Amino acid sequence: MVNTSLSFESTYWPFKRYTEVYKRSLQDPEGFWAEEARKLDWFKTWDTVLEWQPPFAQWFVGGELNACYQCVDRHVKTWRRSKVAIYWEGEPGDSRVLSYSTLYRWVNKFASVLKNLGIGKGDRVTLYLPMVPELPIFMLACARIGAVHTVVFSGFSAQALADRINDTQAKLLVTADAGFRRGKLLELKNISDEAVRLSPSIEKVIVARRGNVIPKMKPRRDFWLHDLLDKAVVFVPAEPVESTHPLYILYTSGTTGKPKGIIHGTGGYLVFNNSAYKWVFDIKEESVYWCSADVGWVTGHSSIVYAPLCHGAAIVLYEGAPDYPSVDRWWDIIEKYGVTIFYTSPTGIRMLMKYGEDEVKKHDLSSLELLGSVGEAINPEAWQWYYENIGGERCPIVDTWWQTETGGIMISPAPGIEYAPLKPGSATFPLPGVNADIVDENGKSVPTGEKGYLVIKTPWPGMLMGIYQDPQRYKETYWSKFPGMFYTGDYAIKDKDGYFWLLGRADEVLKIAGHRVGTIEIEDAVVSHQAVTEAAVASKPDPVKGESIVVFATLKQAVSPSLQLKSEIRQHIRRTLGPIATPDEIYFVAKLPKTRSGKIMRRILKAVASGSNIGDLTTLEDEASVDEVRKAYEELKKEV
Ligand code: ATP
Ligand code: MG
Repeated sequence: MVNTSLSFESTYWPFKRYTEVYKRSLQDPEGFWAEEARKLDWFKTWDTVLEWQPPFAQWFVGGELNACYQCVDRHVKTWRRSKVAIYWEGEPGDSRVLSYSTLYRWVNKFASVLKNLGIGKGDRVTLYLPMVPELPIFMLACARIGAVHTVVFSGFSAQALADRINDTQAKLLVTADAGFRRGKLLELKNISDEAVRLSPSIEKVIVARRGNVIPKMKPRRDFWLHDLLDKAVVFVPAEPVESTHPLYILYTSGTTGKPKGIIHGTGGYLVFNNSAYKWVFDIKEESVYWCSADVGWVTGHSSIVYAPLCHGAAIVLYEGAPDYPSVDRWWDIIEKYGVTIFYTSPTGIRMLMKYGEDEVKKHDLSSLELLGSVGEAINPEAWQWYYENIGGERCPIVDTWWQTETGGIMISPAPGIEYAPLKPGSATFPLPGVNADIVDENGKSVPTGEKGYLVIKTPWPGMLMGIYQDPQRYKETYWSKFPGMFYTGDYAIKDKDGYFWLLGRADEVLKIAGHRVGTIEIEDAVVSHQAVTEAAVASKPDPVKGESIVVFATLKQAVSPSLQLKSEIRQHIRRTLGPIATPDEIYFVAKLPKTRSGKIMRRILKAVASGSNIGDLTTLEDEASVDEVRKAYEELKKEV
């Protein structure tokens, strides 16, 4: 495949090694990725590296491999059989440690359980489990026999679970009696029963024991996992599957609308993640790696399960809430397991920032070497706090930009290749093989320093294979805005040094008196005021300016809201960004509406502000936050 637009020539200057690798990867993508693919164990080598029939890409066509084999079997043939694979920490304080050989034993037995229930290659299996070791084990067991898993976050409602089961037509649901959530038991089996009533495709339900709850079990439909394990055999061969065989279907967070069922294949996905993980986290044999995301998001799939285990890494898996039973729980876990790499989200950092540094100082965090951030742009305030207080000013922060659709990390510092000087708030540069660019409305590259739409100009191996059962939506969402380019839906800017800065969702860009301003730019300015912890910016139509700026902010615990504070914040934004960005309205709320994965749902704020329809709320964390925003909004209307 010939690449016609190499955009790095003038920008990615001083990093010699990175520039070399990056350049080569775009000049000869197929040669480059074939070399990366050889780092995995293939049962059969591919015939063609890439078959690109836009907009569908097939990687390593003709090749055969198995994801579970990559993540487990490979390691038990070496000294890693006695290495820790998973340090698991339960919310109540119980823990389990699984070596690679223990993991091997379990994935075989779980695969046997699946087979005994009639599950085979291509069948869809829904996993609705808390963050217990059984969750990654079931994912791997599905992969072992070629079944396709769909993990549904265990905080979702029966309806959200049923929607996902119905969309994938799963035959089997795996759940638990209950899961812990801030000390309380969430009765997952009962929720599952409600969902199964709405999902006729489910034939069998497996129930793992976690909470010692005795749920109702329906004969011949529901089975306890421990009973099934009694009848399981100890070895089930890892089935060679085609490189393009689907590994999983995963729904996006639903920040911008109805969640999309993203399909990822096996070969390309693993090759991409295996390489990206090494580049970004510079993983070493002795690393102890902890990603605090839930396995139910793409971060959990790629950055807790598949990429680290491909490398034979030791991972930490934590079941519960960051602030339970006390607000230093995360720091306690880092100390307890000697975590060297910690990967979390800006929303998590901002939440714990609220409690102050003393909570952090109670713990020895000197094992940390590298920090990561994902999920949203990290505002410079939170970046600095993370850098100073958690990383002790010695750990670089990798700010990683990616999406469910991209399968793996796309834009990020890459200390595994070469350290670039970091700029707080910038995800820095695209990884090798990622042909990222920023374009204008007509698909033309924008000059340095100008804002535009982030696109990926050529396929990469981690790219989604499609939206499940909906090729039309796939084409429309990603490939129709700019023909031949993958449209990310995000807005970005490249600075004079070639660094990428993500500026929020493109459909949230505000057009004010002819200027285009990213929501993140204004939010960063609001959050840099010392009274504010979090902010979200939305817009509403304005007959004169086009759009006017509406700010929703949460305040630090010790601060009380006042009109004086509003005017201070308004002045502060004016000073930071200029008069054009001065908000027309500011609201203080106790909580911002967020998705379960911690992303702010600005579309809800926009709907409230402009009085339009609120849309799909199935992935919202807390419905009360919407009422709260509405209330704040209405009260202010009275004040004015
Ligand atoms: P939906 O597509 O259903 O609206 P979503 O986009 O929130 O949901 P995800 O795939 O989980 O679902 O999130 C990907 C998005 O998260 C990216 O498009 C981007 O907007 C944001 N994001 C992730 N990491 C970063 C980062 N490091 N910096 C800035 N934004 C990020
Ligand atoms: Mg998205």
